[in-house]
Order: sequence, then structure tokens, then C-alpha cells
Amino acid sequence: MNIGSLPVLPENIFQLVFEKSPGSLLVKADSPHFTIVAASDSYLEITGSARKDILDKGFFEVFPDDEKFDEHTNARHVFTKVVETGKAIEVPTYRFDVYNKAKKQNEIRYWSCCNTPILGAAHKVAYILNTVIDITDEVKAREAAIESESRLRLAAEAAEFATWDLNLLNQTFIYSPRLSEIFGHPSETVITLEDIRKQVNPDDMQNIVVKAYEHALKSGNYLYEVRITWPDGSLHWIKTQGLVIMDKEGQPVRMLGTILDTTETKRDEIRKNDFIAMASHELKTPLTSLKAYVQLLAKKLASSDDSFITGTLSKAGIQINKMTDLIYGFLDLSKLEPGTLQLDKTDFEINSLVSDCLAEMKLTHPGHVISFEPQKDIVVSADREKVGQVITNLLSNAIKYSDKGRAIIISCKKTGNNVMVSVTDNGIGIKLKDQEKLFQRFYRVESERMKNISGFGIGLYLANEIIQLHKGKIGVESEEGKGSTFYFSLPLQN
Ligand code: ADP
Repeated sequence: MNIGSLPVLPENIFQLVFEKSPGSLLVKADSPHFTIVAASDSYLEITGSARKDILDKGFFEVFPDDEKFDEHTNARHVFTKVVETGKAIEVPTYRFDVYNKAKKQNEIRYWSCCNTPILGAAHKVAYILNTVIDITDEVKAREAAIESESRLRLAAEAAEFATWDLNLLNQTFIYSPRLSEIFGHPSETVITLEDIRKQVNPDDMQNIVVKAYEHALKSGNYLYEVRITWPDGSLHWIKTQGLVIMDKEGQPVRMLGTILDTTETKRDEIRKNDFIAMASHELKTPLTSLKAYVQLLAKKLASSDDSFITGTLSKAGIQINKMTDLIYGFLDLSKLEPGTLQLDKTDFEINSLVSDCLAEMKLTHPGHVISFEPQKDIVVSADREKVGQVITNLLSNAIKYSDKGRAIIISCKKTGNNVMVSVTDNGIGIKLKDQEKLFQRFYRVESERMKNISGFGIGLYLANEIIQLHKGKIGVESEEGKGSTFYFSLPLQN
């Protein structure tokens, strides 16, 4: 390199560099004037001014104080403080609108500026360098994020949900005011995670919350409903649903979700249960008398030659038995809190059970064609009566939800260590969105067609409870308008 050929810099090089630098203004520290000494091109552009109009003028002569600025953003205040303290002062955000020549209108702009003192003789502040940066995009992005968060929160609050977010690493707990209300406190009360945990029923904490958390560590989602006690001693129910977020090593770092007060729904459910219990209890007495009268009559007329009388009495007896079963079923149901259903297991051959259920069903529903090809010797260890109740329920649904004459097929097959029983119909079928809810208590599909078919929506719920207790599986495959296959599996006798 030839050093001798270095370009000769113009004398005013620093002034030229300053003028090309982004958003810079140099003012003298001659308070209260703050005379403008230099301004960069971009500063002139931002402020819509010409260099000749502002140089050597007092800053506030050309940029009068704006009342909208507070003590932190007011330029006079900031400049004075820089001179007094000799320290740089940043103004992180302030609004200063800029005239857009093309659009012929003012545009909202946000800026951040730094006021740096430049020391002169005797270490006194001689100048202030004011540099500004356009941060309009960042501010708008931040505003949009805040807006969408508050919109989300508003939507949650409108739906009566409380939202919460727990950082598992430092236990920071953030929640919406509705959460305090759900736990029986005024919305402005600050509550801690510890307070909340103390309000949860200890049994539910142990049996439900802990299990839900363990499940969530595997699946990432959790959902549970528990009882809580309010500070006034009253009992309430809450349902919480959310996510567990893991780090790269699979360690849980954050949990967030929503909480809903389900007390009213729960109380309705209890009232409904009590009603069913009371109604079925009241029905039991007259039905027992009726059964006794029919049995007496059947005995008296046993030797009658009239086959119509004996036949009809026997059918009446079957119907009374059915009704009794139903009523006992309701009673079972009303008592059926999780874990209260008892199994009475024996070893039995399942094809014979299916044949028995089928024979009974054909008696009461002669118009339907039900086919079954028994396979011999599939022995299960289960509660015969309750499994029979499940088969009868699936068969009666197949009949109920398909037109007369449509074929119904029931089958029993060994699959590995299980037996699979399935009931296929060519009936009305079920939409996918309804399929997963069918096994919930009182769930019935809502449709025009269903309006004319009576039912309580408890058969499949009970069937599910019974099969779950046997550690089996129950499910459905169906297509709307074509038909359904309900199936369940039970472990074979071992
Ligand atoms: P119920 O029949 O008394 O309403 P269930 O619990 O037995 O109660 O069934 C729940 C719902 O599932 C029914 O209301 C019906 O909408 C639907 N369902 C059950 N079985 C069938 C089927 N074989 N075909 C179509 N829909 C069915």
C-alpha cells in the first residue's frame, strides 16, 4: 500500500460526518436557550425543517415545548438535568408525529432518544448531543401484542373463565382477577398457590389432582374437576384444564390453563340424581305388588287350556322383570359415584350369555332380524349379570336406532387374551363429533330423528362403567346414515 497516496480529508470532515449520521442534533449547554449548533440531514427530515432555519436558533424557539410531554420526556427538563448532572439521559419512548409529504398528512411516530453531555473546559457540560431512533414498528408490535392478550383475557372473563400461568422454575404465579372470585374471595384479593391448594378437598387433591398431574407429565394436557371450600365454609366445584410445557430435556417448566366454576352444573347433577333415586324407589313398591299379582294369576291359571291366557301372562311376567331391572338400574345409577359399583365375578361361557340375551330380545322385538353365530367355549371371568346388562343395552339400542327389517349382527370373537363382543346395525348412525360423548352420563344425540325415540342417555354410560371395572374396553365405529358397530372387550379367564 502506498501511504503517500492517502486522500487528504477536508477540514470540515467531522461536520460532514455529523450531517450524514442518523437523527443527531447538537445544542449548546447555554440554558435556557440551548442554541442549535449542528443537525444531521435525517434530523432535519424527521422534524421537517431546513438547516438554515434552525442553526444558531434556540432549541425551544424552533421546537416549542409540547404540553403532552411529561417531566421525563419534556426536552427542557431533560436538557437542564443533563447540564446539572453531567450524565446522559435516555428517553426510551415518546411520540412525535411527522408530516408525510406524499400523503400530505401527519403520521404517528414513536421515538427513543439519548441526550449525551459533551464536556468542555473545567469539565463543565458544553454541549448536548441529542440522538433519536425511530421505534414506531416496535411500539406498534408491542401494542398489538398487548391488545391481543387483553382481548383473549376479555373473552375468557366473558365466558366466566379464570386464566392462570405458573412458572415451575421460580414458582411465579400469574392469574386473572376472576380466579380470586372462583375461590370465594373479592376479585382484588391477592391469593397464592399455597392458598389455593389449601382450599382443595384433601381427598380430591390426593386422588384427582396428583393423578391428573402425573398424566399431564406424559400427555402434556390436564383436565380435572375437584371440590373446593370457600372461606365462608361453603362447598364448590371447579374444573381446570390446561397444558404443561416442558423444556428440551423433557422437564416441566411451566403450567398454564383456565378454571371454571362448575358448582351450579354439579348441583343440578346431584338434584337430578336425587330425583332419579326417589322416583325409582317409589316405583319399586307398586311394581313388586304387580309382579306378585301376575305370579298368583299365572299359578292359578297354569292348568288352563287357553294358551292365549298362559302365553300373555308369561309375557307380562317378562315385561315386569324388565321394568324391575330398569328401576334397579336407575337406583344403581343414582348411587353410582365413581368407585361404588361392585362386581360379582364368576367364570362363564360368553356365547351362552349372548344367546340368552338374544332370546329375550327376540321375544320382545319380534320384527327385527338379529343374527348370531356362536363360537364355542370362550370363558371369561366376569360379572355375568352386569355383562348381560351391557349386551342387552347394545342390542336394544341397535333395535331402537334402526328401522324394522334392517339386519343386526352380534358376534363374539377371541382376540389374543380378550374376547371381543360387537353389535352391528344398519341404522341411523352417529356423527363423529357425538361419538366420543355417547358414554357420558345423560348424553343423547340431538337431531330431528331422535325427538321421536325415547331414552335417558344412561345405558351406554352404565355399560362403560361396567366394562371399565372389568378392565376391558368399549367403543363405537359409526357413520351417520349408514349404521354403527358398538363393541367391548373383556379379558379371558386366566
Ligand atoms: P338412550 O338410548 O337411552 O338415549 P344410551 O346411553 O343407551 O341412552 O345411548 C346414548 C345415545 O347414543 C342415544 O341417545 C343415541 O343418540 C346414541 N346411540 C346409542 N346407540 C346407538 C345406535 N346403535 N345407533 C345410533 N345411535 C345410537
